[in-house]
Amino acid sequence: METKVLPADQEGIAAAVKLLEAGEVVAFPTETVYGLGGPASRVDSIQAIFAAKGRPSTDPLILHLPDPDLARAVADGWVASPLPEAALVLAKIFWPGPLTLILQRGSGVHPEMTAKLETVAVRCPSHPAARKLLKSFGSPLAAPSANRFGRISPTDAAAVLQELGGRIPLILDGGPCSVGLESTVINLIKPIPEILRPGGITMEQISATLGRRPTLRSGFLQKEESQTAPGQLASHYAPATPLYLCDTPIQNLAPESFHILFSRSPKNPAAAALVLGADGDPGSVARELYRALRIADASGAKKILVEPVPDGIWAEAVRDRLARAASGTAHWRGKGWEVIPRQPA
Ligand code: AMP
Ligand code: MG
Repeated sequence: METKVLPADQEGIAAAVKLLEAGEVVAFPTETVYGLGGPASRVDSIQAIFAAKGRPSTDPLILHLPDPDLARAVADGWVASPLPEAALVLAKIFWPGPLTLILQRGSGVHPEMTAKLETVAVRCPSHPAARKLLKSFGSPLAAPSANRFGRISPTDAAAVLQELGGRIPLILDGGPCSVGLESTVINLIKPIPEILRPGGITMEQISATLGRRPTLRSGFLQKEESQTAPGQLASHYAPATPLYLCDTPIQNLAPESFHILFSRSPKNPAAAALVLGADGDPGSVARELYRALRIADASGAKKILVEPVPDGIWAEAVRDRLARAASGTAHWRGKGWEVIPRQPA
């Protein structure tokens, strides 16, 4: 299949809507990462998304709403009522934006989209092209990240082409993503909200809005548990090159390794290093992380070495993704990484 790349302008969006109306899937920009969208009401499109990504059917998709009004999503049968109060509050403050709410699935949601779970993940993205696409199509899109399963999420159109070129008909190019990491996923089914995946909206922002601190799901699950708590698999967001987390800042660059550093330049400058966050912008570490992992992966280095992530509003999400990129063998504990022994096979 030929994969077209079109600018995410009026013409590009019209071409995308035409494909969606025929039940096809298209990649499009969101503020978090690029998504692979298909009509949420069509089971053939949902199956096409799983097939293009090589994603196991046990890992559910996120429902992307054209409208930030949750009550409307209930009226349209996407989400079941009654809505928890916290959902209304969070949607009002953070939508459109990078926050995904886990709610009871409405009768209009196909079970294949949610991996047969009784819950559904919903969000309304804020990227102008995503909003235009959703509004023009006029109905929610099922959309996971536009990468092959387990690999690094794409934060620009070139990365989508690298991941899914030849597997999908169209990529809308809306430039680099402004957040650069996936949405925060919060489970609102339980009495105490639980963050399943740290991301674009921070724990502090959510705590301040709800007036209580959600719990943070920690620990990675083994494969067989994925049905009940999807998206928690240890190895995820991973480059092909082995990635190692260093316990102390990297002082000297190692041969045949690619180094990811934070906020300072190496003593012996070399091509095999990237410094993230050097511009002092707190968002740039998150925004640049996946691009850096792609560059590191393509560099031919035998190892990727990453130094400790400094504290900051994005640290939680960046540490989470790096621990998964390191095959789930590490957790961030206080000031350093704790290595988790691999489970016997
Ligand atoms: P992606 O859109 O590729 O970032 O993947 C969607 C992610 O949303 C999954 O990996 C899960 O973490 C999360 N998710 C989707 N549906 C549910 C659900 N019903 N319950 C819990 N998490 C979900
Ligand atoms: Mg994903």
